[in-house]
Amino acid sequence: MPLVSMRQLLDEAAKGGYGVGAFNVNNMEQIQAIMEAARETKSPVIVQASRGARSYSQDRFLYHLMLAATELYPEIPTVLHLDHGNSVDTCKSAIAMGFTSVMMDGSLMPDGKTPSTFEYNVKTTREVVEMAHAKGITVEGEIGCLGGIEDGHGAGLDGLSHLTDPDQAVEFVRQTGVDALAIAIGTSHGAYKFTKKPTGETLKMDRLIEIHRRLPRTHLVMHGSSSVPKDLQDIINQYGGKLKPTWGVPIEEIQLGIKNGVRKINVDTDNRLAITGAIRKVFAEKPEEFDPRSYLKPARDAMKKVVAVRMTQFGQAGHAGDYAPIPLADMARRYEGRGMPVVSSE
Ligand SMILES: [Zn+2]
Repeated sequence: MPLVSMRQLLDEAAKGGYGVGAFNVNNMEQIQAIMEAARETKSPVIVQASRGARSYSQDRFLYHLMLAATELYPEIPTVLHLDHGNSVDTCKSAIAMGFTSVMMDGSLMPDGKTPSTFEYNVKTTREVVEMAHAKGITVEGEIGCLGGIEDGHGAGLDGLSHLTDPDQAVEFVRQTGVDALAIAIGTSHGAYKFTKKPTGETLKMDRLIEIHRRLPRTHLVMHGSSSVPKDLQDIINQYGGKLKPTWGVPIEEIQLGIKNGVRKINVDTDNRLAITGAIRKVFAEKPEEFDPRSYLKPARDAMKKVVAVRMTQFGQAGHAGDYAPIPLADMARRYEGRGMPVVSSE
């Protein structure tokens, strides 16, 4: 099947009461790892590329790898999503390339660092929504600022400095018509999210629950939601790495989120850790190896394993065959007819 709109995947997830992992990619092996995990667990899937990934891969390579994925895994509903678009133009170029979903992160200025005003965020996001929905493409917005920096994007603050205000979230959704909303509840990008296991003081699940209560039909997105498991950290350090002790978002907190309107969960760090650990292990144990496949294959397998576990934990496993893809042109007509509402379960 062709690449599908993210809105359809999230609407289906809302109906089924599950979440869908959104996994970042930069290269062929990562795409293969995700698609193999999706096939094994029969999961619909969101593959996402940041601006950094698009420039690393000269994004035409990435796009054609994704087309290959749809040919080789025709039974898997697959979305290609732009992660943290920094401007209307970035979103426009992704849509022109064939992405079926874009994030306009207007919570920051185009430099990807400076927190913006609410008015700026509404204006730019609204512009992207109008442009994208006309083509049946999904839009994710962000209100509040996430912690940390990834691929040069982020205010570099701790996760608690710009938590999402529920009143602003309601107003933002009303004024922009976004399909999905990323909220700041204390999570951060990168490996160093929490200095100890998060509590209600550092990971504000009560805030998420309140936002869901106020916006029951908006698909919520948890960014920076790798769990950063200790066993993956240990493999890296065991084979010469130097990761400092760190904690991610516990799976049970993500599952609580999924019970409260979270439909998209962004995971990148866990896969990076799995890949790096597997490569370090081969380098340490077989220093005579120099065929890249001798370490890229274990790296790909390690990532596939992590992704498959997440797909099961998020509940998307088993749902790949639930529905037929809605063509983007039909999605565009639906938006037209309904004046860009944000509704989930119909
Ligand atoms: Zn993010």
